[in-house]
Amino acid sequence: MSSKASHGSHFTRAILLWFQAHKRPLPWRKTRDPYKIWVSEIMLQQTTVGAVIPCYEKWLKLYPNIKSLARAPLQKVLKAWQGLGYYQRARNLHRSAKILSQKYGEKFPGRYEELKALPGFGSYTTAAVLSIVFDQPYPVIDANVRRVLMRIYRIRGEADADHDKILLERLRPHFPKKHAGTFNQALMELGALICKPRNPLCLLCPVQTFCKAFKRGEQEVIPRPKKRASHKIEAVVAIIRRDGKVLLQKRPSTGLLAGLWEFPGGKKKSGESLKTALAREMREELGAELGQARFLMKVRHSYTQFDVTLHAYEGTLQSEPRLKKNSQRWVGLRSLQNYPFPSGSAKIVNALKERQGSK
Ligand code: SF4
Repeated sequence: MSSKASHGSHFTRAILLWFQAHKRPLPWRKTRDPYKIWVSEIMLQQTTVGAVIPCYEKWLKLYPNIKSLARAPLQKVLKAWQGLGYYQRARNLHRSAKILSQKYGEKFPGRYEELKALPGFGSYTTAAVLSIVFDQPYPVIDANVRRVLMRIYRIRGEADADHDKILLERLRPHFPKKHAGTFNQALMELGALICKPRNPLCLLCPVQTFCKAFKRGEQEVIPRPKKRASHKIEAVVAIIRRDGKVLLQKRPSTGLLAGLWEFPGGKKKSGESLKTALAREMREELGAELGQARFLMKVRHSYTQFDVTLHAYEGTLQSEPRLKKNSQRWVGLRSLQNYPFPSGSAKIVNALKERQGSK
């Protein structure tokens, strides 16, 4: 595509007009409230629109503004985040809300450097908030935009951030001085609805005439699909019951799935049977020998780096468990709803609730 300004304005206008006519009526598009737009931008990173909408609406009922979020206990914030994954995002929202509350009088600073210094504000989020809320001319590149631009400019390779510098240079002459936020959203929407990862709908595309990949028939091979370096983990957990309660434990406050709750158990070692692994985990985590163990269910969940298969057993212990005061406790089935769980454990909790409800 030529980078002449006039050409750029055609390109820009084509995208803006298409967006005006075809954008989805998403809840966060009805507001200019910086807090709500910020929350939506954070939720939409690494989570699909369909999964975000109900969580976004529930979240705003619980935490309608910076003040309410800043005052909330972290555990409740993590619980409200359940279903979205990547809990570090919720922790950063909470930390940033506290800073915005204490240092900025519950307002967003409009300067790039100040905003970017807040927890969870990388280049993407900072540019998104400044352009959408304050109409400042910062371009954003998310996975959708990266794919669209790589195709338009026919940049080969995997879709990773290494290409962003060159993509931004090519985009610069076409980036509008006004309506920056709308233009950013339009490019993202084009990637989500038309220029999809597979089978892009080129015949409906408003910028087809500018697209080098389309001209060469290479839209299916740009960008090159990523090889997923995932490994598989098998884990065992025990649902230990007593007086209508189950035993839960909290994960460490740093590292993977930090601060979330789960059933006692852990990774199966190579060569171990599931029950041997379960018995070892009970010994290590609860200081008690496993009694009976009846298979309950198997759940699978994919995280970024690995796929986990969780084998859940209903178990008994031969002696009193030695509980760690702050991180292990008996919890009534009704109270499980107050605890934040990783997605795999949440599936087991739902199954327990359903069984309880059907009795
Ligand atoms: Fe994407 Fe096809 Fe449009 Fe090119 S023509 S930007 S590949 S949808």
